[in-house]
Amino acid sequence: MGRLARVYAAVVVAAAAVAVAVVVVKRRGKGTKWGKVREIFTEVERKCATPVARLRQVADAMAVEMHAGLASDGGSKLKMLLSYVDNLPTGDEKGLFYALDLGGTNFRVLRVLLGGKEHRVVKQEYEEVSIPPHLMLGGSHELFDFIAAALSRFVETEGDEFRIPEGKQRELGFTFSFPVKQLSIASGTLIKWTKGFCIEETVGQDVVAELTKAMERQGLNMRVTALVNDTIGTLAGGRYEDSDVLVAVILGTGTNAAYVERANAIPKWHGLLPKSGDMVINMEWGNFKSSLLPLTEYDEALDFESLNPGEQIYEKLISGMYLGEIVRRILLRMAQESSLFGEVVPQKLEIPFILRTPHMSAMHHDSSPDLKIVATKLKEFLGIQSTSLKTRRLVISICDIVAQRGARLAAAGIYGILKKLGRDTLTSPKQRTVIAMDGGLYEHYSIFSECLNNTLRNLLGEEVAGTVVIKLANDGSGIGAALLAASHSQYLEG
Ligand code: ADP
Ligand code: MG
Repeated sequence: MGRLARVYAAVVVAAAAVAVAVVVVKRRGKGTKWGKVREIFTEVERKCATPVARLRQVADAMAVEMHAGLASDGGSKLKMLLSYVDNLPTGDEKGLFYALDLGGTNFRVLRVLLGGKEHRVVKQEYEEVSIPPHLMLGGSHELFDFIAAALSRFVETEGDEFRIPEGKQRELGFTFSFPVKQLSIASGTLIKWTKGFCIEETVGQDVVAELTKAMERQGLNMRVTALVNDTIGTLAGGRYEDSDVLVAVILGTGTNAAYVERANAIPKWHGLLPKSGDMVINMEWGNFKSSLLPLTEYDEALDFESLNPGEQIYEKLISGMYLGEIVRRILLRMAQESSLFGEVVPQKLEIPFILRTPHMSAMHHDSSPDLKIVATKLKEFLGIQSTSLKTRRLVISICDIVAQRGARLAAAGIYGILKKLGRDTLTSPKQRTVIAMDGGLYEHYSIFSECLNNTLRNLLGEEVAGTVVIKLANDGSGIGAALLAASHSQYLEG
């Protein structure tokens, strides 16, 4: 090639390179920077990893914290609260019992007629009442009067088949799912309100006394026989159905666990009461924290901006309130740094908690070939007009990472409890261990619950896993409280 020809060729090549560069720059300006997406994604994936070895360490840490919390008050992030429930229902319970289940914006009143071993639950009726928002922030009297009035109206609709014997008082199990310092089976002081309730004057008061006074103001003669929370209620309801229930776990908006402990294995209780036998412990496991938990920058920011920074760290990794929000935070970063949804970050994506866990689960379960549901949900809830199939697939992968991490950590927590109980190995004679499970997250998010079950099976090994069962105890906490009123009834002999 002559000199001129060479120069010409070089110019042509350079021009072509410029043309290519222009095209690339144009595409990037409009579209997603997939290299950056991949970078963020890989980091999330790496930081959220929960290899089995790590899960075993988490389980051990859970068991260690359980010991520490039982040894002394304040000895652990796990409060390990004594429930004073030492009489779980056996199935022999008879008679009419009421329950009141308060733990959110709705409460339920319920009555049940128990017919003993033979007839079991003869009849059951309930009513759900929603609490007007102003009462959640009003005075103590107003809230408890409202509840007592609803209960009183419900008692008035009691049919003939429910009648109690002449001269006997109706008894109630009170499921009160807020932090309480329990003083006996039927008394406890409110530590603080949560879930949007804030009534200063009730804090530090005995909630049973408050309810009793309100019932008296309504002219309702009823005795509060058992004060429990939803987790203890679920344990009692589960035990009534299956005598091998030893543990209850809630996986709903929040998360908690309770289990049956040997009373003599509770050092902080020694000397308080001469008691042998069993005692139900309310773990308040949502507050579990350990350097072993796989936290990302998204979790740290979520915690920092939350109403209770530094608290409920385990809950913030596994419960329904937070899973969708973690996904939103990851998507937001991708939108900001790699134009995942176009040049402009969708405004709605910046709103905390706009992506709820049920939306996340709907997207995650989308099995249509073009991922229609993912597209619809992104449009509906985040205002993202159009997405490529590749983007939709990415969204599902992110849901998968976040859900799997939560489910696997929850399984590790359960495995920790089984270790503490010595049910992580084969017992002789071979004993079954049943975990009563309740909560919308476990019930409706089937990828989550399948992953939890598989992980637990894996941690236990096939042989032991054959003796451990997770049973869905659908809304067992209401009836559980009524059953506890029955098993602690003032009319029991002995
Ligand atoms: P709570 O925990 O408030 O007492 P639930 O046990 O009914 O009430 O659980 C409700 C929670 O379950 C919701 O806040 C949500 O996080 C989760 N949830 C409900 N439905 C679904 C769903 N389809 N997929 C995933 N999570 C769900
Ligand atoms: Mg609930």
